[in-house]
Amino acid sequence: MQRVVILGGGVGGTLTANLVARKLKARIAKGEAKVTVVDATGKHAYQPGYMYIAMGNERPEKLVKPEKSLLDANVDLVVDEVRRIDVAGSRVELGSGEVLVYEQLVIATGSRIVPEAIEHFDEEAHHFYTAEASAKLRRALDAFTGGKIVIGIAGIPYKCPPAPLEVAFLVESELRERGLREKTELQFLSPINRAFTIESVSEMATPIFAEKGIDLQLLAGVDSIDAERKVVVTDAMEEYPYDLLICVPPHKGAQVVVDSGLAPKSGWLPTDRHTLQVKKMAASGTKDEEIERYPNIYALGDATDLPLSKAGSTAHFEAPIVAERVAAAVLGRKPSGKHALYTGKVMCFFEVGDGKGTLLSFDYDNPPKPPKPGKLWHLGKMVFNKTYWQTVPKGRV
Ligand SMILES: Cc1cc2nc3c(=O)[nH]c(=O)nc-3n(C[C@H](O)[C@H](O)[C@H](O)COP(=O)(O)OP(=O)(O)OC[C@H]3O[C@@H](n4cnc5c(N)ncnc54)[C@H](O)[C@@H]3O)c2cc1C
Repeated sequence: MQRVVILGGGVGGTLTANLVARKLKARIAKGEAKVTVVDATGKHAYQPGYMYIAMGNERPEKLVKPEKSLLDANVDLVVDEVRRIDVAGSRVELGSGEVLVYEQLVIATGSRIVPEAIEHFDEEAHHFYTAEASAKLRRALDAFTGGKIVIGIAGIPYKCPPAPLEVAFLVESELRERGLREKTELQFLSPINRAFTIESVSEMATPIFAEKGIDLQLLAGVDSIDAERKVVVTDAMEEYPYDLLICVPPHKGAQVVVDSGLAPKSGWLPTDRHTLQVKKMAASGTKDEEIERYPNIYALGDATDLPLSKAGSTAHFEAPIVAERVAAAVLGRKPSGKHALYTGKVMCFFEVGDGKGTLLSFDYDNPPKPPKPGKLWHLGKMVFNKTYWQTVPKGRV
């Protein structure tokens, strides 16, 4: 019996499970293979929709479905928390005390927000990284009648790099429509020395900030919040006063991978950029080719330390590679075909406000060349959001 255990039932875990189950259909039918997903909640959230709750055109109940409803009939689901991964024993220990033994392990436990890492974050800063926080931000925007809105980022990496820029552009459009633009100062604090991590995207986005009259400040990562004076303090010790603060909270990987000795304190799993195998932790400065890979442990999606967007799209394009390699190992053959190795492919829509958007499509060797923003790409994102449940997790695109 070959047991494939997949930790996390988000985009990456669900899609990988469905693809592996398809490839191993005959073996599963004969009782020679088993695919199991473990998820803490048993619910699958479509997180990109949270931003639209904040923008007033999405409802939270539309963004969650039972994980079971998205899984192939040949995949078992265990709703439980993963407490420890025992690599030496090839076992996963769950909160209930149950133990799952694996021959192949896939870690897709995503990322988590840690707003508590910044004092006063919860009382002072709005964000759009949970359905509840997004609804709260919507109420704050509804009540807003003018003043200064600061949009900042408290640490890299974070989920969906374009999201805070999109929010800045969408809020600006909304304020214009509501006749509040003249009464509002908008400021965007970028933590790096340009508007966006990727140069070509930064070149596209920087003039949009200027056109929309949004003050773009560079090297201004949010470090702390002075709640009494309503001031954001950046890591360069600059102060930015606000009436309404919108801030991307700090992010980390799952604690369980740190506690299991697989990842450093940040929680991002050292991952091979092409095979997606988890790498053993090594002293800094060790050459990549000298670092050992676990032959039967893979990571994908937000959980990895790869220098790519923490995006559902990244998980979407990584899953076929993990599925091919896992299935090949179970079937005793070499990984083959176009999904044998990951090329770094990512493809994300990017809203720029006023019903327009653009597309970021890239891989390790080819940086994005975003087309001129237009209505088509905005519509593309809307269609993608609506069709997600029938397509991505089920492996239909
Ligand atoms: C506001 C916002 C906007 C976004 N916009 C976009 C976008 O436009 N395009 C895009 O591509 N991406 C976007 N994303 C990012 C995207 O949602 C994530 O990158 C994606 O969900 C990552 O997939 P994943 O499978 O790695 O992790 P997740 O989907 O987060 O799934 C992780 C799963 O692991 C489970 N888990 C974690 N720890 C444990 C444990 N110890 N035991 C058991 N289960 C556990 C969790 O319950 C969860 O179900 C956005 C995200 C947000 C928040």
